[in-house]
Amino acid sequence: MTSSALFHAERAVPRYTSYPTAPHFSAEIGAEQHAQWLAALPSGASLSLYLHVPFCSALCFYCGCTTKATRRASPVAAYVARLEREIALAAGAAGGRPVPHIAWGGGTPSLIGPEALRRLFDRLAAAFDLEPLAEHAIELDPRETDAALADALAAIGVDRVSFGVQDFSAHVQTAIGRVQPFGTVERAVTLIREAGVAAVNLDLMYGLPRQTARDVRRTAHMAAQLRPDRLALFGYAHVPWVRPNQRLIDQSALPGAAERLEQAEAAREALVALGYVAIGLDHFARADDPMAVAAREGRLRRNFQGYTVDQADALIGLGASAISRFPQGFTQNAADSHAYIRALDAGHFATVRGVAFTRDDIRRGRLIEKLMCDFAVDLDEEILSEAAPRLAPLAADGLIRIEGGHVEVTPSGRPFVRLAAAALDARLQQGTARHSVAV
Ligand code: SF4
Repeated sequence: MTSSALFHAERAVPRYTSYPTAPHFSAEIGAEQHAQWLAALPSGASLSLYLHVPFCSALCFYCGCTTKATRRASPVAAYVARLEREIALAAGAAGGRPVPHIAWGGGTPSLIGPEALRRLFDRLAAAFDLEPLAEHAIELDPRETDAALADALAAIGVDRVSFGVQDFSAHVQTAIGRVQPFGTVERAVTLIREAGVAAVNLDLMYGLPRQTARDVRRTAHMAAQLRPDRLALFGYAHVPWVRPNQRLIDQSALPGAAERLEQAEAAREALVALGYVAIGLDHFARADDPMAVAAREGRLRRNFQGYTVDQADALIGLGASAISRFPQGFTQNAADSHAYIRALDAGHFATVRGVAFTRDDIRRGRLIEKLMCDFAVDLDEEILSEAAPRLAPLAADGLIRIEGGHVEVTPSGRPFVRLAAAALDARLQQGTARHSVAV
């Protein structure tokens, strides 16, 4: 790796799952605004629903999600009851609208149990028009997947499951506080397939403590043995000032920027050689998977969950910390589950922050999403001249090519696409937020 590439890899920039990014959300946007934006959705507007469950049996050291460890049933049941209330409130404002996409995330959403999953799904089915449902996805922990859960998921029409794998090497699993041998994952995948769930995703990670390029390559090969439809490869983001559980990670065992880049490249090469199509910054899919098809046809999108084929007009986030996207802006629920519960008990939404889009936000948001999805974007003269000083060093180092208003990320620049996106971010210069490294 050249010293300039190393310099770029070490720069801290947002992940651009939204624009404006979350540090620019403010308390000026609250529950009333959320309710107004919901009610203003046209009756035919399609909705994507995301349900967040902020509980896990135990916390993994590397976790960057909004979740907490619990082994008690009562806080989980209390939370599910408020999710039902939030669904009822959302239905009151925007019920009956078509829903093509449902996703459950967390935390470990299955922790609420098969019965609560069924009950919440029934509430959604009663409140919205699920006739157009094209994708129904859930994140699962292979250590917590059994036949009863697999059957419940199939019964409510889940057709895509994402398993957290990270790395199959025992020394890495010990260093991240999540021990799950290959056999555990294999068994979970088999149960899900036997129950009739059509698609399986596996989530892998690089940049973990004690992890090497060899571990990453070996993990890619072992993962491919399970024939997943998609794989995601995320770089571990070490942000212990935001996620105190990450203080359990031995910082001295973390790979440096050059090793992280080598690991990302090793995984990419292995997965492509195994027949997967590389999509965007961090996804891989079988050529016939809807995401690979969308990428080929220029229909790939990016939202809070990363790359997606979801084209819905609005995203409604349900649960603590969940983010919603409306044509007018973003809203976010209280991250603390107690604050979330208190708000629902007071009879209103739990929105605590958000941002109303300016015209410039909408314009730049589209450009940044395009760049993150397609590695190329056409800029108008105004944005090009404004971003030119920030794009120039990337072009000088061969990470991007600029021809007229057309900006294209080169093959060697792809791992650095977040830096090109940052060059278009008018708000980044104003912010004080700390971000994770670019690669
Ligand atoms: S990584 Fe997944 S299973 Fe582990 S604590 Fe975070 S959300 Fe829970």
